[in-house]
Amino acid sequence: MSDNCIFCKISRGEIPSKKVYEDEEFLAFHDINPAAPVHLLLIPRRHIDSMQDVTAGDAGWLGRMMALAPRLAAENGCNPGPQGGFRVLVNSGAEGGQEVPHLHFHIIGGSRPWKGRVAPNA
Ligand code: 5GP
Ligand code: ZN
Repeated sequence: MSDNCIFCKISRGEIPSKKVYEDEEFLAFHDINPAAPVHLLLIPRRHIDSMQDVTAGDAGWLGRMMALAPRLAAENGCNPGPQGGFRVLVNSGAEGGQEVPHLHFHIIGGSRPWKGRVAPNA
């Protein structure tokens, strides 16, 4: 937990969010500024700044977090099958494009075009 972290505040319910999933370990909600028809953020409730801080000891919870991505994508409007799909994006550190320093997976999908920061490789 980190007192001034916006995603910790969202996890604690101190900042409202449009939740799509929650359990003891994780929370997923709609990105406030979506760049595609489906744009979710999946976060661990435990505070960790970024993937730069991940080590082998994090494999368990990180694997469970990764395994949630296809389920959340399917349940929230990403198209199925090889012609559909989704992108998992994990910006890490300033040079990695990360703006909120609480590790999060962007789960991005839906019919293209996508815009802005997720448009490259369209
Ligand atoms: P980053 O650039 O750190 O990878 O992504 C941070 C994401 O968090 C951005 O896509 C931004 O739109 C989203 N975001 C920032 N503040 C909030 C907020 O208060 N609520 C929600 N739902 N999303 C936020
Ligand atoms: Zn945090």
